[in-house]
Amino acid sequence: MADRKKQKRPFPNLPEGLKQLEQAILSSVDPERMLVKLLNIVRSNSESKLTEAIQGESTWRDIELGHFKTLVESVNDWIWEVDTFGLYTYVSPRIKDLLGYEPSEVLGKTPFDFMPDEEAERVRKVFAEIARNRHPFYALENINRTRNGDLIVLETSGVPYFDSQGRFLGYQGVDRDITERMKVKDELRKSKDKLQNILDTSSDWIWEIDLTGQHIYSNPRLLDLLGYQPDEFIGKKYFEFLHSEDLKEVEEILPRLISEKKGWHGWVLRWRHKDGSYRYLESSAKPILNALNEVVGYSGSDRDITERKTNEMALLAATQAAESANQAKDLFLAKMSHEIRTPLTTIVGFGELLEDADLTPEQKKYLDAINTSGSALASLINDILDLSKAETGKLAIRPKSFRLQTLISKLVATQEPQIEAKNLSVHIHINHDVPDLLVGDQLRIQQVLLNLLGNAIKYTDKGSINITVSVIEETDLRVLLDLSIKDTGIGIPKDLQEHIFKPFAQAPGAGTNNHGGFGLGLTISRSLAVLMGGSIRLESGEGVGSTFHLVIPLQKKKGSLSEKTCQQGKSSLWTGPPLNILLAEDNPVNSQFIKIVLENMGHEVTVAENGKVALDTLNAKTFDLALMDIQMPVMTGQDVLHVIRELEKITGKRLLVIALTAYALIGDQEKYLNMGFDGYLSKPFKAKELVNELVRVVKPRGPSL
Ligand code: ADP
Repeated sequence: MADRKKQKRPFPNLPEGLKQLEQAILSSVDPERMLVKLLNIVRSNSESKLTEAIQGESTWRDIELGHFKTLVESVNDWIWEVDTFGLYTYVSPRIKDLLGYEPSEVLGKTPFDFMPDEEAERVRKVFAEIARNRHPFYALENINRTRNGDLIVLETSGVPYFDSQGRFLGYQGVDRDITERMKVKDELRKSKDKLQNILDTSSDWIWEIDLTGQHIYSNPRLLDLLGYQPDEFIGKKYFEFLHSEDLKEVEEILPRLISEKKGWHGWVLRWRHKDGSYRYLESSAKPILNALNEVVGYSGSDRDITERKTNEMALLAATQAAESANQAKDLFLAKMSHEIRTPLTTIVGFGELLEDADLTPEQKKYLDAINTSGSALASLINDILDLSKAETGKLAIRPKSFRLQTLISKLVATQEPQIEAKNLSVHIHINHDVPDLLVGDQLRIQQVLLNLLGNAIKYTDKGSINITVSVIEETDLRVLLDLSIKDTGIGIPKDLQEHIFKPFAQAPGAGTNNHGGFGLGLTISRSLAVLMGGSIRLESGEGVGSTFHLVIPLQKKKGSLSEKTCQQGKSSLWTGPPLNILLAEDNPVNSQFIKIVLENMGHEVTVAENGKVALDTLNAKTFDLALMDIQMPVMTGQDVLHVIRELEKITGKRLLVIALTAYALIGDQEKYLNMGFDGYLSKPFKAKELVNELVRVVKPRGPSL
């Protein structure tokens, strides 16, 4: 071609238009083809066009393009033509925008001249193959370098073209700049790769199903979860793998979700693993919608929670086992306490009755031993029940008004014999700023203080015990008190000081053999203190003595206590007229004891050995009061009371009924009073307690007694 370009001009003095034509022919890569074209133009186009060309007003190419010129030059794509050598014979002006070159700079060059070497090499091979067969080609992507060095991607399409004799002349075609599109495509590929990586490496099983329930996609995690390769699973329906119980749930819920176009979150279902076992999978999914906004399937992810679920179930089973063990313990305690209390009532009761009998000193000693052991056993049972109630939160606090001074002096009075026996001195010091009238559960405060004082006496062989009450904090309505009991006894080693508050814990030096006790007192005391919103604190040194502080918040009471409240807790003797009493009690020994106590007070007693007999007796005779055992054969005390109260709705009368129960664990006072009983006595009880309850129940009835 270079040789051809160097050819000498054969007609040096041609007019401008012909010179141009001559130039076009000579500079053409294929002058022969040019001449053919020229002849065609002469033959088919108007003479005037040729004249235009000869006069230099338009180029021969303009003439050739004719009325397509405007179109070719204005389309966004770059239009070109190459000859059989691959040299550009025509390029539309759009080349300037794409590659930055003027068309004249490009003519005579090949497309490969604008490509980086490696790319040129690649495209040349592809193109050679196409050109050999004179095939058209479409959308051949190739990278080009622009005039200023940038790389752009062109998409080239071309068709071979031939002269009228069918001779191959080259290719004509278009190039389109697809750099932007390629960038987008590249971004798309990158994000697709990213997504694929996530899908491949996710610890969740990611899936897609269509509306027939068929799996259309699954990531590889499926293998770990259910033992299947994704390929094995595609096409399978989810319901083949679901646990039958869960399948029912899915069949119920899924249609609704589909109709509402909703997904789900955290749905736990059991899937069958390839090995036959079931796995708990927690699933979340969203519906796939088509262009018409209809649900066509679901895509989502599942996570294996079998281990968590198994642990949860084990925990639940353990909790249930613990709960039922606890219930069994409660039941056992209730049963045992009932069984122990019933005979104990007799022992304590008859022991008490015998005290007034004429006994020899020897017999008196035996009786004392029986009475002491009976009381110890009764208090142990109370302690165990209290502890059990405190542990299960069944201990109730009942605040009432009381005098602190009275409470403490009574407390010390109950311990007088033990204090005297050990020759100890007890000092009470109540600071002057401590209010005397207070509101709190005096019985529980007494119980705690009694335990602390009892211990102080127990573990002190000589010296003194100081009871001090002081105010820690005070507001208009409330006061925080420190009630301390300080002894000069054996003391408690530092390392045991926390330990002794645990059930059955005792300091080795304070063994049961020497001092008695079961190691429950402090545990109960602390529980009670906490229940009352307070605490118990200890200061002690071995051999120096101990100080226990009960710190509790109490309400201050303005004014004075009513007569009735002040009298509460005092032992009373029966002073009223004799009563006609029905005693419903199935245990003959117990009923014998109670009957004797009541008859000694001057009352008339009729015994009924079960609930049914009690009702019959009540129908036949009028009574002032009934003592009703709860646990009775044929009809329980509760059932009898129910019938009595129902009948009273018709008769308009009201019988006073006192409940007797050995089930102190579950039957506390409040429960029975709420049931409609007027009074409550927990077995074993002393004659004094029976009288007190009679007085309490009968008194409010008025002046007739
Ligand atoms: P108990 O006195 O029935 O053994 P407690 O729970 O009341 O049970 O007391 C637990 C242990 O704490 C006692 O066994 C004893 O070792 C120790 N303890 C309690 N109070 C004192 C005290 N005032 N002095 C010395 N040791 C005490």
